[in-house]
Amino acid sequence: MRRDRVAEDIYTFSSDIYAQVTAGIILTSEGTIVIDTLPFPHETREMLSFIKQHSKGPIRYVINTHSHSDHTNGNYLFPEAEIIAHRLCRETLLQWGEQSLAEAKRDNPALAEVEIRLPDIVFEHDMFIHLGNRSLYLTPLPGHTQDSIGVMVEGDRILFAGDAVLPVPYIVWGDLDATAQSLRTVRALKPESVVQGHGVLLLKGELADEIESSLRYLQIIHDKVQKLVQEGAPESALAKIDIESCGKSRVPLDGLVQYLHQENLLALYSQLKQKEKPAKKAKR
Ligand SMILES: [Zn+2]
Repeated sequence: MRRDRVAEDIYTFSSDIYAQVTAGIILTSEGTIVIDTLPFPHETREMLSFIKQHSKGPIRYVINTHSHSDHTNGNYLFPEAEIIAHRLCRETLLQWGEQSLAEAKRDNPALAEVEIRLPDIVFEHDMFIHLGNRSLYLTPLPGHTQDSIGVMVEGDRILFAGDAVLPVPYIVWGDLDATAQSLRTVRALKPESVVQGHGVLLLKGELADEIESSLRYLQIIHDKVQKLVQEGAPESALAKIDIESCGKSRVPLDGLVQYLHQENLLALYSQLKQKEKPAKKAKR
């Protein structure tokens, strides 16, 4: 586990077991706000013991940036806190949470004790939280998933972006255009730094280039995959589109980005093929 101090009383915790997934805490004069949890119980418990040492009051809120289990698995370890998320996050966990947790437990015994804990407070558009000396602004950032949100810490202007900002955008569960739109929203929010759902903290000076390269990446993969679909190329042709030819490095997240990239291509390929079918019929 890696712990970083991002600003006074704001810390992030990154898993060194699973995809550098990152959670955060904000210590206020009236208690603590947690932003996402970590995949494995012993990782979330490490956060908890740090909070217990440093908190100036109870843990009041746990905010989920989206429903994916690597961010929500630890919800149940905060019984005293209220869980806050987008309405669709609660709906997704309600519909799929138990089933996907059961599957994950089969693969990974370390998850045996995990329980689904649903969000208590949900919102649809924007939300503000004022606690002690801190104010947070919560806003939808759909694309990676429909239920994704960002959390802006006012004052320091630190944005917890969840998986809306990643070293390589990941659109397998979501939507390419919405992902691009949310990256523009992040840019318009003018954060001083961005905590990505996975990977390193982005500082203000890096942010513009990083967002530009992700927007370019989305455009390039769209164009390349569309060309293959139009040529009638088989799915296996996707393997030739390497991540560097789409303007991204293969290094971040210990190389996991290459896997995310190939999954993106596969998802896009099947989406664009679906779209093509009615067009062909219309020609006849
Ligand atoms: Zn995710």
